[in-house]
Amino acid sequence: MASFLPYGRQLIEDDDIAAVTAALRSDFLTTGPAIDAFEQRLCEAVGAKYAVAVANGTAALHAACFAAGLGEGDEALVPAVTFLATANAVRYCGAEPRFVDVDPRCGLSRPAHFEAALTPRTRALLPVHLTGRPVELRAIRALARTRDLVVIEDAAHALGATYEGTPIGAGAHSDMTIFSFHPVKHVTTAEGGAITTNDATLAKKMRSFRSHGMVREAADLVNPKDGPWYYEQQDLGFNYRLTDVQAALGTSQLAKLGRFVERRRAIAARYDAGLAGARNVRPIGTGTPGAESAYHLYAVLFDFDAIGHTRAELVAALHARGVGTQVHYIPVPQQPYYAARGHRVSDFPGAQRYYAQTLSLPMYPALTDDDVDRVIAAVRALADAG
Ligand SMILES: *Cc1c(COP(=O)(O)O)cnc(C)c1O
Repeated sequence: MASFLPYGRQLIEDDDIAAVTAALRSDFLTTGPAIDAFEQRLCEAVGAKYAVAVANGTAALHAACFAAGLGEGDEALVPAVTFLATANAVRYCGAEPRFVDVDPRCGLSRPAHFEAALTPRTRALLPVHLTGRPVELRAIRALARTRDLVVIEDAAHALGATYEGTPIGAGAHSDMTIFSFHPVKHVTTAEGGAITTNDATLAKKMRSFRSHGMVREAADLVNPKDGPWYYEQQDLGFNYRLTDVQAALGTSQLAKLGRFVERRRAIAARYDAGLAGARNVRPIGTGTPGAESAYHLYAVLFDFDAIGHTRAELVAALHARGVGTQVHYIPVPQQPYYAARGHRVSDFPGAQRYYAQTLSLPMYPALTDDDVDRVIAAVRALADAG
């Protein structure tokens, strides 16, 4: 019996393990030189001036929302189809997300969806590159410019993706971009995240935020420095630091980003070809013209009615054939926490339609062509039978 294929998983190699072992033997387990090295490598990988490494992608979103100045009475626009963290980060700052509908055919929020959701309280836009496909950044940035709004890209799915030939994270059309290094993402630090930006002031704010809001440089102090030990807390920050052990793993993994993304794209092309002409199931497409997906996920849309099975039945049948799947995502305004705050999922028909049909198939660099063919055969056997 062939092994079970999860929907996503990390790829850790011997040199990654050696890098972690070396970090463990070094003088610093946290707040040491491995952090700077990792941030430098990330800057090089995406073409940004500054990178701030933090404990996880959610902390990265929180730091970015904080640096954007979000607070009580403000709203930030968040796609209705995303992971909870995009909306929660806005709440951590005391602001409220205003959800934005998505295109039911591809799950992405388009510029018109953002435009329709603007209110006088809007302070920031948080576009999400769902599954790794960049959204229409140029138009979203232009919209933000008309009202002086901050743009924070949630690129947790999109490390290695490009938009108009430029890597996501370069900040060509945004103020800040956040990444996650969770094991299912493109490169991993076990748990970890980062923000990239070209703005020195924002970078400084986020560096301080990840360590209790502390500052030490003489030029930044409010009161006179009374000794070399002196520091000041000027904001309410958190302990959101990444460890040197994790950063060492991240640096080792980042060196493989090109190979990992190339493999993900080859897998996607094999799925596309294998599912072409299948009945009752179709890929969500490549998304925005001029953009290249990093394929964090490979999502398809099923016509469950035509197949004559519920999604739960299909998930179980695929599981029985050794194929793991996942649903990305339950529309966030549907969550009891957000419903209780007055959000209504029925206001987002595109999100509801996308959610009703979507399923993510196995996608990670260690999948072999035979694995992919096995998934295609299992999906077609079930979908074509409808
Ligand atoms: C993974 C993810 C996050 C959060 O990242 P963590 O590292 O798990 O905190 C945020 N947004 C999206 C879209 C994600 O997929």
